[in-house]
Amino acid sequence: MLRKKKIISNKILKIIYQHDYTKRTIISLYKYFKIHNPIILLDFIKIELKKYDVLGRIYIATEGINVQISTPDIYMKNVIYFFKNLNIHLKNICINYSIVNRSMAFWKLQIKIRKQLVANNIHDIPILTDSFKNYLNAFQVNKCFFDKNTIFVDIRNHYEYEIGHFHRSLEIPSNTFREQLDKLPIFLRLYQNKKIVLYCTGGIRCEKAAALLKKYKFKNIYQIYGGILSYINQTKTYNLPMYFKGKLFVFDSRMAERITNDVVSICKNCQNITDSMHINCLNNVCHRLFIQCEKCSRKLKSYCSKRCLNFS
Ligand SMILES: [Zn+2]
Ligand SMILES: [Zn+2]
Repeated sequence: MLRKKKIISNKILKIIYQHDYTKRTIISLYKYFKIHNPIILLDFIKIELKKYDVLGRIYIATEGINVQISTPDIYMKNVIYFFKNLNIHLKNICINYSIVNRSMAFWKLQIKIRKQLVANNIHDIPILTDSFKNYLNAFQVNKCFFDKNTIFVDIRNHYEYEIGHFHRSLEIPSNTFREQLDKLPIFLRLYQNKKIVLYCTGGIRCEKAAALLKKYKFKNIYQIYGGILSYINQTKTYNLPMYFKGKLFVFDSRMAERITNDVVSICKNCQNITDSMHINCLNNVCHRLFIQCEKCSRKLKSYCSKRCLNFS
C-alpha cells in the first residue's frame, strides 16, 4: 500500500510540539492476541488516532499490540473507547496512566510492525488466554508480603532492578529480556512449590514470562495487574502501604522516577549505597551503563574502572 509522503520534517514537528501547551496524559496498554493482518490494523489505527492528535509509539505484531501514547485530555475518553472497541480481546484492557507526565515525551505518532512486542527471539512461547492467568491487584499484592510461601520475582533488566524494586524480591540478573527468559525456569526451580509473583514495569514482559513458566509446568504463577505502574497508582489512590522501594527506571531522558525515599542502589566501584544516577562509561568501547558514587566518580573521572580510564 502506498503511504503518504512526509510533508513536515521531524525537526519542525518537534518545534511545533515544544510550543504546544495542550494538556496531555501518557497512557499505555498492551495485549497478546493473534492479529492476522497487522498492516490493515496499522492503517486503521493511524487514521483514527490522527483525529485525536495522539502522539507516541505503537507496535503491532502478529502476537499482539503494545501502545504508549500521549493523548490530549479532552480526547482521552474517545481514545480509550477506540482501543476498547478495536477488538474483542481489548474489551477489558488495563489502561496504565503514567506516574509523571512529561510534556515532551513524544512529538509524533509512530506505528510500527514488529516481529515481537518485546524482542526476545524465542518463538515457541504460547499466548495464554486470560482464563489461564492469575492477576493480583495492589491490595492482594500487599497481602502477599506477609505470606512466607510467596516469592516476588523481578522480570526486568539488572539496571532497572538495581535502583528500585519490590521489598525482598528476587532478581534474575540479566541485561536483556532474552537472557532473562533463558535463565528463568532454572532460577525458579527451587521455588516450584511456592506462590510465584512476577512483576515488571507495566506487565507486558510478565505475560511472556508467565506463559514460558506454564510451559515448564510451573503451577502457582501470579502477575501484578498492570505491573509496577498500576501498583503505584493504586497504592496512591487507596492510600495503601507501598512495598516498591526506591526509584522506577523509565525509558526516557530522565531515566528514573523516585517512588519512595529508600535508596537501594550500590556504587559499582566501592559497593557503598548511593543515590547517584546511572551513567555510561566514558570509554566508548565499553560504554557500560552503571552506577557510581560521587567520590568514585571524581577518582575515576566517570570511567567504570581503572582499566577503562587508562585505556582511553
Ligand atoms: Zn563509590
Ligand atoms: Zn568501562
